[in-house]
Amino acid sequence: MSSQQGILTVISGFSGAGKGTVLKRLLEKYDNYALSISATTRKPRDGEENGREYFFKTREEFEKMIAKDELIEYAMYVNNYYGTPKAYVQEQLSLGRDVILEIEVQGALKVKEKFPDTPLLFIAPPSASELRRRLRGRGTEGADVIEERMRTAAREALVMESYDYIIVNDDLEECVDRVHGTILAEHEKSARSRGFIEHMREELNSADLKGE
Ligand code: 5GP
Repeated sequence: MSSQQGILTVISGFSGAGKGTVLKRLLEKYDNYALSISATTRKPRDGEENGREYFFKTREEFEKMIAKDELIEYAMYVNNYYGTPKAYVQEQLSLGRDVILEIEVQGALKVKEKFPDTPLLFIAPPSASELRRRLRGRGTEGADVIEERMRTAAREALVMESYDYIIVNDDLEECVDRVHGTILAEHEKSARSRGFIEHMREELNSADLKGE
């Protein structure tokens, strides 16, 4: 992988942990990121637009995308398909942009299986009681939906160790800078600099340098 190539990063987190806000701020604050737009069979919510939040597909269209191998990964979540289209991600990575996939845990683990170099980041609230407080604070969901989200969070917490980094979202700006710092550090990993290392070795061993 050349050093010009961007890095693919997966970000997951419990519903209510503030992932959306963190990503929005990350994209405002730093200009090297591209957020992948997923395809889904769920219906658009009020204010959502096709091609902005998601590409909204029928089940049949989505299954065609699967058959044509157009998705990096896909998963079934609350009875709907969600998946990451390959083309945009590949294009942005080759332009040198760092691409973020904001996906749930099953999809995250599939990406890691396919591309083991991909860092998996998990955004967590400081505590379970804070998560409940944030879910209540949204004011859009009833108590039963909130309890369902808390149970989903408990299930998702079972795979938190599979993530490479757990980043606590207590203070928004701090969390955004930690996410950015983690991705920057990924660029410096020796495994991503194989070409540079080879080149350095060749130069060090080349005839021109001998005896200089
Ligand atoms: P929502 O319906 O609330 O927008 O998203 C539900 C869940 O689906 C979230 O946890 C979100 O991260 C996840 N998700 C969104 N896009 C994708 C995707 O392309 N693949 C997978 N595996 N999960 C996704």
